[in-house]
Amino acid sequence: MNRRFFIGTLGSAAVALGAGRTQPHKPKYIFYMIGDGMGVAQREVAERYARMKYPSRKPRLVMNSLQVDGLTATVEVSGKVTDSAAAGTALACGAKTANGVLGLKPDLKTPLRSMAFDAKDAGMQVGIVTSVPIDHATPASFYAQVPKRSMYYEIDEFLAASDFDYFAGETMLGRKKAKGKTAPDKLVKTAGYQLVQDRTSFDALRKGDAKVVVEKDLGYAIEGAQDIPLADFTRKGIELLDNDAGFFMMVEGGKIDWSGHANDLATNVHETLAFDEAVAVALEFCKKHPDESLLVVTADHETGGLNLLEDKPLVSVIDAQKHQTSFYTRQVSKWKKEGTMDAESAYAELSKSFGIENLQGENKAEVLKAVAASLTDETTDTRSKEIQKMYGKKNAAVTSCLHALAAQAGAKWTSFGHTSTLVGTSAWGRWAEGFGGQNDNTDLGINLRKLILS
Ligand SMILES: [Zn+2]
Repeated sequence: MNRRFFIGTLGSAAVALGAGRTQPHKPKYIFYMIGDGMGVAQREVAERYARMKYPSRKPRLVMNSLQVDGLTATVEVSGKVTDSAAAGTALACGAKTANGVLGLKPDLKTPLRSMAFDAKDAGMQVGIVTSVPIDHATPASFYAQVPKRSMYYEIDEFLAASDFDYFAGETMLGRKKAKGKTAPDKLVKTAGYQLVQDRTSFDALRKGDAKVVVEKDLGYAIEGAQDIPLADFTRKGIELLDNDAGFFMMVEGGKIDWSGHANDLATNVHETLAFDEAVAVALEFCKKHPDESLLVVTADHETGGLNLLEDKPLVSVIDAQKHQTSFYTRQVSKWKKEGTMDAESAYAELSKSFGIENLQGENKAEVLKAVAASLTDETTDTRSKEIQKMYGKKNAAVTSCLHALAAQAGAKWTSFGHTSTLVGTSAWGRWAEGFGGQNDNTDLGINLRKLILS
């Protein structure tokens, strides 16, 4: 309501504030930050970890300290649990579509328009930033129109044709799908983009470097210092995009979702914190331009059905784990292949890796059983081939350890997929009120577009 009040009262004229400051009628700087798979429980467990790990740090999670909070519904067009393509389309275009579809109506033909194009047409510079491949569903929602999210090569063609100013994320998945066609890196170069693939060239990028694609694998935050973390992608985006007409930047924390699919709590917490560092960079900039900035932090859906049961001391278990799931899955597969590791020794090693050495009785017996099964069984992964392909194979021993770790941290995963629970949305800036209360995900897209077009 306040948002309408502002627009209605101020019309299109900028209001003079004195001392040379003017208050624009619409945001000059927009940050749209999306934690993929980041439900309220994911935010809360990261907040708890930060509270215990860094007792004097305030705020613990920047995204939990903004001016306005709300809840957002995420289901796709027919009411099913959404995937990131349908949810991304809702957030980017303000309209619902079917799972797997990017930027098209459920008829798979009628195009939907991403607000990023409206921002570009309004003269703003546009940045699309993510911690996963730049052509993955969430970022692609902002520039592509394809009936299937796996059409990575076609998505890369949209990327090259978008004319957006800054892309940053992991290696384009379309590279593997080029098959005799022009490779995606050539596509973007032909379209006038500078392709940056290492830290030195990244650091050398300066304001005025137009049309940049940064293609750099980030790895996982849990595995230590990242070569270029998401926060640096965001900071560089600000440096490159800042101009008199302002900018629109979408920033996605994509591996919160991946670790949710794996039920990997420690990795999930670290990914949420890494995303929050990017939010901190955005907020710091917004606070320097308080009359002109809008920051919206949301999620496309929840992943993993994470429940928080008790507020337990969780730092020691979270900190015990040094790698993300697939590292341990590979380790167990290797043991199985070599056939030299007995279940007790494998259990001893894994329980140390996950900080669960103190398991007793039934809890220990359950994990031990899963470890023994993983050393002999062909596969214990019952999820669909599609999910396995997208998120890696699941190993019973590792999953069992991850669940035991979560229990020690007072948490419980209830799904390996997405859920339809509401997600949290937080906002900061003069237009933040428009994102409070309970909204549908399409409302966020509609409200932001209205501001861009106002
Ligand atoms: Zn997912």
